[in-house]
Amino acid sequence: MILVTGATGNLGKATIDFLLKKGAAPESIIALVRDAAKAADLAASGVTVKIGDYNDYASLVAAFAGVDKLLLVSGNDIENRSKQQIDVVNAAKEAGVKHILYTSFERKNETATSPIAIIAGSHLATEKAIIESGLKYTLFRNNLYFDVLPMFLGEHVLETGIFFPAGDGKTAFALRNDMAEAIANVLLSEGHEDKNYYISNTENISIADVAAALSELSGKTIAYNSPSQEVYTETLTNAGVPTEYIQLFAGFAEGIKQGEFATDKTDLEALLGRKPTSINTFLAQVYASKN
Ligand code: NAP
Repeated sequence: MILVTGATGNLGKATIDFLLKKGAAPESIIALVRDAAKAADLAASGVTVKIGDYNDYASLVAAFAGVDKLLLVSGNDIENRSKQQIDVVNAAKEAGVKHILYTSFERKNETATSPIAIIAGSHLATEKAIIESGLKYTLFRNNLYFDVLPMFLGEHVLETGIFFPAGDGKTAFALRNDMAEAIANVLLSEGHEDKNYYISNTENISIADVAAALSELSGKTIAYNSPSQEVYTETLTNAGVPTEYIQLFAGFAEGIKQGEFATDKTDLEALLGRKPTSINTFLAQVYASKN
């Protein structure tokens, strides 16, 4: 029995879709959700929907009964995530889960000086709890999603160009759906115990590369301006962007600039059995119709 948390979110839902597409029996899959109303499509596909909340330990122990492999999709409540996810690990152990798989993050700097310390701490604490639990584990060091790029670029990028303080740093961005497919492949095969997989594209790209690709796609020159962190923060503040978003965007930009997400690891390609989706394909999917 496979249980997927975050099953009403993008990655969890896509992983379940790939499990089904690749031939897993719906009755061998449990979707953990907070709100059954958001999971009507999952229930209709024959998957068992169970209600559980990372903030409700008893709900987790009950939902995890009889589960062999548990995919913990990292949550998005940054402030409370360490405790929530350590509780998931403890509940998995208490319920007799055999193997826990976790969607973690790509990084180099694991100290408090990391530009993305704001999200890193809870991932690292969860990885530690998983390893110390004694359960079989698989850690996916997910790189940045291509899917977050449009948020960094802004809604009017084709008119305004790119304003983002990432310098010349390169990142092995990968498509979230490719990550979901790779995770599904791992869930459906054996031999992944006590492994770390680096879920990254085979190509590292800079934001200047994104600007060049967008220029080619749109037929217009899309400029890339990498301001200082101070100017970036001030500009977004004046534009009314909420502070927590500015902090996150600025942190990721600095992480990209420092090369936190640059890697030559090819685990994603190996797990997919094909090249991951490229930047040109992704940008064409998102921007070709807006041109
Ligand atoms: P998402 O769509 O926001 O999904 C997050 C899931 O977590 C949702 O299903 C949400 O449930 C569930 N969740 C949140 N708090 C919970 C709680 N207290 N109890 C139970 N479930 C809870 O995110 P995604 O796009 O699938 O990405 C998966 C994760 O990757 C994110 O949560 C975040 O940790 C991380 N992430 C990575 C990147 C990247 O670039 N690598 C970018 C963004 C996020 P509801 O549907 O009920 O809200």
